[in-house]
Amino acid sequence: MPKKTLLHRGDTVRVIAGRDKGKSGKILAVENGRVTVDRVAIIKRHTRANPSKNVRGGILERESSIDISNVMIICSGCSKPTRIGRKVLADGTRARICRRCGTNLDQ
Ligand SMILES: [Zn+2]
Repeated sequence: MPKKTLLHRGDTVRVIAGRDKGKSGKILAVENGRVTVDRVAIIKRHTRANPSKNVRGGILERESSIDISNVMIICSGCSKPTRIGRKVLADGTRARICRRCGTNLDQ
């Protein structure tokens, strides 16, 4: 059962808990209650070379996913981490808004 979230790929978020607390970056992927954030939660993967798949061996650095509850979206209006509210606009479309200042986060 996938978890519900109002976060999308491309959102800028701040990490508010865990090992990378205080870092911020763009969401690269959202999957089942976890997000992958650009240059956050870097892990080293020790990879064995596989010539048939053209994979070079060695230690690769890549992002790992972190729990969605450990990040908050950064508002483009007040540039603070905020919770997300929902609003139906005058033309009937739904938008995500900043709970602090009311800025439309989907513009
Ligand atoms: Zn705001």
